[in-house]
Amino acid sequence: MTGRVLVVNCGSSSLKYRLVDVGAGQALAWGLAERVGQPSGRLTHSRAGGEPSVVERPLPDHAGALAAALEAFEHSGPSLADAGLTAVAHRVVHGGDRFSAPVRIDDDVVRAVRELATLAPLHNPVNAVGIEVARRAFPGLPHVAVFDTAFHATLPPHAHTYAVPPQWAREHGVRRYGFHGASHAHVSRAAAELLGRPLSETNTVVLHLGNGASATAVAGGRSVETSMGMTPLEGLVMGTRSGDLDPAVVAHLHRVAGLSPAEVDRALNSSSGMLALAGTNDLREVHRRIADGDEAAALALDVFCHRVRKYVGAYLAVLGRTDAIAFTGGIGENDAVVRAASLAGLETLGIRLDEERNAVRAPGGRRVSADGSPVAVLVVPTDEELEMARQTVDLLAAGS
Ligand code: AMP
Repeated sequence: MTGRVLVVNCGSSSLKYRLVDVGAGQALAWGLAERVGQPSGRLTHSRAGGEPSVVERPLPDHAGALAAALEAFEHSGPSLADAGLTAVAHRVVHGGDRFSAPVRIDDDVVRAVRELATLAPLHNPVNAVGIEVARRAFPGLPHVAVFDTAFHATLPPHAHTYAVPPQWAREHGVRRYGFHGASHAHVSRAAAELLGRPLSETNTVVLHLGNGASATAVAGGRSVETSMGMTPLEGLVMGTRSGDLDPAVVAHLHRVAGLSPAEVDRALNSSSGMLALAGTNDLREVHRRIADGDEAAALALDVFCHRVRKYVGAYLAVLGRTDAIAFTGGIGENDAVVRAASLAGLETLGIRLDEERNAVRAPGGRRVSADGSPVAVLVVPTDEELEMARQTVDLLAAGS
């Protein structure tokens, strides 16, 4: 599988990109445009083996951000004209139940991405803007949408159905979809490779712990249960999101505090989670505060790890035989304390961490469980952009 793909990921005020050589499994260049639409913007562009270049200038909109990125390619390389680009891949957060796989983009797809904004109002509109801007910049290339939800299209009905009036699902799309699909796909495959087992015979609990966090039970390469639901709010405790919560809280706060549903929704997404409990959503800072005797930070970490442990127990029950638990994401890959606390006391379920292996910081995928642990515990760096680029190349190869 070969090809060079420009992967684009548009956020509300940012544009991330990565030029991926799929055959080599490597990024050739990557960058981030920040503060898009604000008075002062910044573009940081890096190429493999080079120093990052930083340009500070206003980036009025996503078209301006992409134009600045293309200039950075020209200035600092590698030259996109000579890169042999085969496609542009776009991250789209919500595919609803319309998209269960990556899809080649045409006007109908862009319209569908916009229509699905009812389910992801913060993400899908800006994803659509990114697609339109890039289609204008690269009119001769195929563009492919890769959906965060698509990997979870295999969720069985008993896992994706909420126990609510069925017309809510039929008419308003109220069901569980799951997110972080590219990461869960990449990590579950890499976990099977690390174990030396065929993916189709490997059962893994993937714990993607970053600023956003989700757990997925992957049976033979298929997502069978996942912690995020209709939106990325459900499940684990996150940087700024509450995760699981009694839905009655929304009506209660409306009655007793006069908060509108929109206000509660905003608070649950943007000012809850670790930020609410510890005062910061950066786990490194949480550890510093705990070392200084901050009890709120200690409680926040306990709440975070307890929630992860609960999901691990639940997903062992969902999978039956489990071969591995794979930690990924900024926290999962780097935070040995979180890994140990999340799995503490699970020895009777066949999970035995090796303290020394867990404490070592090393790049690449590795095993951190004790020899003979019935369930292997792995650290697997995620690479969502490589996964998106691979899926894009696969789609185009299948279509040609
Ligand atoms: P992500 O969203 O996957 O990029 O993860 C971002 C989060 O990872 C940050 O907010 C930090 O809390 C956490 N993180 C990154 N590096 C470390 C580290 N060395 N130790 C603990 N947490 C880290």
